[in-house]
Amino acid sequence: MSKSTGRPAKKARKIYLDYASAAPMDSRVAAAMARAAGEDFSNPSAIHAGGLAAKKILEDSRKKIADILSAHADEIFFTSGATESNNLAIVGMVASFLPHIVTTNIEHASVLEACRQLEKEKRAKVTYVPVEPSGIVDPKKIAKAIRPDTVLVSVMYANNEIGTMQPIAEIAKAIRHYRKNHKNSSYPYFHTDATQAVNYLPIGVERLGVDLLSLNAAKIYGPKGVGALYKKRRVRLAPLAAGGDQESGLRPGTENVAGAAALARALALTERLKEKESKRLAALRDHFFKKLRALSPKIICNGDLARRLPNNVNITVPGIPSDLLVIELSARGIYASAKSACKSGDGKASHVIQAINPAIKDTDGSLRFSLGRQTAKADIDSTVRALREIFAKLDKWYN
Ligand code: PMP
Repeated sequence: MSKSTGRPAKKARKIYLDYASAAPMDSRVAAAMARAAGEDFSNPSAIHAGGLAAKKILEDSRKKIADILSAHADEIFFTSGATESNNLAIVGMVASFLPHIVTTNIEHASVLEACRQLEKEKRAKVTYVPVEPSGIVDPKKIAKAIRPDTVLVSVMYANNEIGTMQPIAEIAKAIRHYRKNHKNSSYPYFHTDATQAVNYLPIGVERLGVDLLSLNAAKIYGPKGVGALYKKRRVRLAPLAAGGDQESGLRPGTENVAGAAALARALALTERLKEKESKRLAALRDHFFKKLRALSPKIICNGDLARRLPNNVNITVPGIPSDLLVIELSARGIYASAKSACKSGDGKASHVIQAINPAIKDTDGSLRFSLGRQTAKADIDSTVRALREIFAKLDKWYN
């Protein structure tokens, strides 16, 4: 209630700058999901007419996704999200001999922890190629890390914390070169986690030159808990779970038909908006960085400023803990994050920020702002004003 007018106080508009954690579902995606959920009450494996109807929705969705990826429908496997897709690509690749995997030191936890688990169980050896201070990996260093026993190279398309884009096509070329020079070997295969890139970058699998690609609906304005793995026909993977024959036996369990329909719709809409949104957000991102640099000389801008996703802004504020910054922003109606949501709240500096700047300590807070379809210039300006206020308040205690 407002004291002066006695009328209920106008609710301040929330500023959501955490699109990289999850993007609000597009109403058209929700409608596609609801439509499919209304029709898919049968198990798609059932052989009665209800099952066939559900199966049709599932297979139509698979075909739509394959078309967008310039892939074949039988190369698309629905999963519960990018974590499962990444695990399937990496753990599923490891056969009975002791193979080798090449990846980078800034991958998502679902890649790094899958690799560490395989090392711990002595099921694979892993080389973690460090990225450059720009947050971008040198393709020559990836090529150098490949050995005769390397079965898989896994490099994310764009980083979820600092938005840096990896030179996927160049790495693919280096891998093709290696295979050709090693008796036309089919190994190593090349996997990319495209979760954060799908909104903004081309995802044609042939042009990228990848054999495996993970994607996730929640980051493209679809529902949480749905994803897919693209797997080239010639790539052999073992399922992670034992069970039925669904998804060609690679991913047993009753399929999430409405989720698949939603993923297909979300991907189609994303393709349509990609170019325009990329341009609009890149301008906002650059405006945001400029304002942040003017705000305080202490702010460190993380990652290459140009070779990054158009929606990503990541800064370190030395001496002020991340979680405090996130909470202070939240109290002002601004939702941002400290690092990957899967790893937030542990009080530790992010492995990504430390990889590009080893001088960063746990007490140096980082903030990730990820912009999206509803972000306007006024939101950026309000956020900069809020940060000015927060720094003025916290500087007294932390400096
Ligand atoms: N990879 C990247 C790059 C991500 O940003 C995320 C989500 N934070 C994941 C994988 C995991 O996705 P999910 O939570 O859907 O399993």
